[in-house]
Amino acid sequence: MSDAVSITLKADQLNLNARKVVKRLHESGFEAYLVGGCVRDLLLDKQPKDFDVSTNAHPEEVRDLFRNSRMVGRRFKIVHVRFGREIVEVATFRAEHPEEDHETYDSSHISEGGMILSDNRYGTFREDARRRDFTINALYYDPENEEVLDPLDGVKDLEKRQIRLIGIPEDRYREDPVRMLRAIRFRAKLGFDIEDETRTAIKEYGFLLQDIPPARLFEEVLKLFMSGYALQAFAGLINEDAFRWLFPDTQNLLAEPLNQKLIELALESTDTRIGNDMPVTPAFIFAALLWGPFLEERQRLIDEEGVTIYAANMEAANNVIAKQQLFTSIPKRFSGPMRDIWFLQFRMPNKTGKKAVAVANHKRFRAAYDFLLLREKAGEALNGLGAFWTQYQIDNPLDTQSSNHRRPADQQNSDRQGSRRRRRKRPPRTPST
Ligand code: ATP
Ligand code: MG
Repeated sequence: MSDAVSITLKADQLNLNARKVVKRLHESGFEAYLVGGCVRDLLLDKQPKDFDVSTNAHPEEVRDLFRNSRMVGRRFKIVHVRFGREIVEVATFRAEHPEEDHETYDSSHISEGGMILSDNRYGTFREDARRRDFTINALYYDPENEEVLDPLDGVKDLEKRQIRLIGIPEDRYREDPVRMLRAIRFRAKLGFDIEDETRTAIKEYGFLLQDIPPARLFEEVLKLFMSGYALQAFAGLINEDAFRWLFPDTQNLLAEPLNQKLIELALESTDTRIGNDMPVTPAFIFAALLWGPFLEERQRLIDEEGVTIYAANMEAANNVIAKQQLFTSIPKRFSGPMRDIWFLQFRMPNKTGKKAVAVANHKRFRAAYDFLLLREKAGEALNGLGAFWTQYQIDNPLDTQSSNHRRPADQQNSDRQGSRRRRRKRPPRTPST
């Protein structure tokens, strides 16, 4: 099989450090390629997020070649070569292993790329290619002679703009169900189609996602919703009926239009912020995703369990978060702010006196205010509460000055440099969505 395709990539697209790593490996007599998502993105004229190198050199050999490197992973070692803040990940070609499946998953078997590495058998680049998920992710680029090795017809699928699993979908999804989420994510990211068999098998085998540890699903949810294409990713999860395996309680409430709309607005605003290089936090996204279940549980506690209105918020939050953790983990650093955003929704109707000042001074006021605006935009009738708090910030700039929780980093920098007085006069951020 002749699988070398000659392709010249613009030199400036290619990461200098990754090139250096490949060059050094070649000089030492090893095979080495750029591999995976970076080659795919380069061929699509997109800037890759990170650069991975694949080689027949064993990890110890790689480490000995680069002073700025260290081995990571326990059973299957890969090498991180560090250049300042950037890391090039170098993995040795791996052969397929029949016993390998997601049940062997624990974090020590997962490379930065999230691949399952349960064994120590090395192979050829062809074997390495077969272990990858999609044909478009199984491309190997040699920057020295500008050749793409394409053993599984990935270039053809790139041209057809389709995501196709390598091998038999059932087998590959059983081996690692997260590949279903990856297919949906790459469709959202690249605007491709998912090849038919690859796609229809998602509905059939989606239930296998129940076996994936919540911590790994949390990571996947972040990739789905915090990469600038969250709205597409959400639509894709719904279309392939995979959303229910991530957020079952939310899924059950999607029929209520307000809920789905709020989620879509939150994801849309996340995408916009990422597009504008503004910071985003999972706390805000999770607050929107679980707002419906939270309200429902709160009402149930009040109506059916006689819990007081004062205790209901806390208890409902505890219950909803505890249940969600069975599916995706939510680290405390995000569940804390998420609760704040929720609880402030119930305090914002206090429009006067000390209570209003306390709300405006809360460190999560900005996020809660943004959330309130989204609720209104989703169609909730709140008697102009959003407009009230917009005006409040104009009238009382001192109260909300410390609430820079979700403002752009560059704005925060200029705040630090500017005088306090100037900052206080800054008008409030107007609703961006
Ligand atoms: P991104 O742009 O999101 O980084 P990527 O394709 O680089 O996309 P990574 O998660 O960084 O995705 O993984 C790097 C490569 O490792 C993939 O291109 C693929 O070849 C392989 N890979 C990652 N996860 C899996 C998996 N679960 N099963 C098989 N191969 C995988
Ligand atoms: Mg990658």
